[in-house]
Amino acid sequence: MNDNNLLIRDIKNRFFWAILVRYAITGIVLIIFSLAIFLKMDVRAGLYFLAFIAAYNLLAHIIYLFKKNYELWQLLLLSAIFLVFDVSAVTFLIYITGWIESPYWFLYLVLIVISGFGVYSYYSFSVFIIALFSAAFYLGLLWAFYAGLLPVYRPDLKLTPQEMLVSISNKALFTTIAFFLFAATIYYFSKLLSEHRRELLNKNQELLSALQELKEIDRLKDEFVSTASHELRTPLSLIRENISLVEDGIVGAVSAQQKGRLASSRNSVDRLSKILDDLLDLSKIERRFFDVDLKRIDISRLAEKAIHFIRPKADEKKIQIETKLQRGLIALLDPDKIFRVFIILLDNAIKYNYEKGRILVGVEDMGEWIRCYVGDTGIGIAEKDVPRIFRPFVRVGNEVGGTGLGLSICRGIIELHGGKIQVESKLKEGSKFIFILPKGEKNDTHPRD
Ligand code: ADP
Repeated sequence: MNDNNLLIRDIKNRFFWAILVRYAITGIVLIIFSLAIFLKMDVRAGLYFLAFIAAYNLLAHIIYLFKKNYELWQLLLLSAIFLVFDVSAVTFLIYITGWIESPYWFLYLVLIVISGFGVYSYYSFSVFIIALFSAAFYLGLLWAFYAGLLPVYRPDLKLTPQEMLVSISNKALFTTIAFFLFAATIYYFSKLLSEHRRELLNKNQELLSALQELKEIDRLKDEFVSTASHELRTPLSLIRENISLVEDGIVGAVSAQQKGRLASSRNSVDRLSKILDDLLDLSKIERRFFDVDLKRIDISRLAEKAIHFIRPKADEKKIQIETKLQRGLIALLDPDKIFRVFIILLDNAIKYNYEKGRILVGVEDMGEWIRCYVGDTGIGIAEKDVPRIFRPFVRVGNEVGGTGLGLSICRGIIELHGGKIQVESKLKEGSKFIFILPKGEKNDTHPRD
């Protein structure tokens, strides 16, 4: 049913295109004739030709506009009828332009091609019918010409009856064979094409349903991750609370050795909670459940706050953090989330940096956008890995611990703000993570708060 509708739409489109093409031809011929009339040439026969095309094309147009929903068989019938009109018009043209010597007989071939590829979406026998029509018309013309039944429009045609007979039989043989050979070739190719087309359509359908399935699996995965993280978080905070209670000696005395063990357990629980939080956030980002609480904020101040927060960690590796922060750049954004982006990028810049390395944090004005970056002198990322690192769970070429979630959360947050993030990196030389954020409100750089 669906297939049929597509076919109907397709044939209707082609039917309409044919109408436009005929209008164009009529227009062009009209211009040529006006010129000919201006030069005082006899174009009476040509005007009949023009009137014939204009008349049946108008009829085709009226039929096209008359009814919106044609059945498939009606459209096919109409296409066939108007194709026969086209064949007649071409024959007429050949007749008035010198019959046997007319240069326009190749237009029959054009019609065979049109009927093979143009009119129907799928291959059909119409090519042979058109070839048959064309051959019959053409041969009929030759015969009428020979029998002297129709007036001659080529006064310069001066063949002896003997020459004419040879010429006619040659032409007859040639055109009949050529038409049918041509029709067979077109038929074969259009059949091949439509088979390929059908195959492609089937493959497309298969791909679409596979995609649907994958989407469903992806949704289930997100749901599972979200529920599991949620469920795991509650017992985990209980465990952490109890560890703290024991550690602080509230439920009895604890030895120094026990304290050490408890502290390490607490750290592990903290790490686990952080991973769960990241998983939960990522699943929220992917399911578009992540709320943003927009405020007008000075991004440089936010960057400074993040640097201040992370500095102890940088100091552990003797890493220097330099800044190039442009002041007073106000943007409408969720401060907690952008703070998080800075923290993730700074944390990575420390994690994947060498001892005594350097980090450069920048914030600069770009008109309606603000450009921020975190660059480091660390291990860098191989060129082939760059396109993958923003995907969840992707970790590349390093032994440092991590989950591969940080950058995908960053990208999610930046994109939620309508921004973009990218990385420039060179292996063993360092990386620069750059993100741009829209300021949000035009010409409004004075914060109320
Ligand atoms: P994680 O750091 O937990 O592995 P991320 O999503 O933050 O996860 O990073 C993904 C991967 O990108 C990292 O495993 C690392 O290979 C690479 N990467 C991220 N930041 C940097 C950086 N500043 N320098 C070099 N590689 C980095």
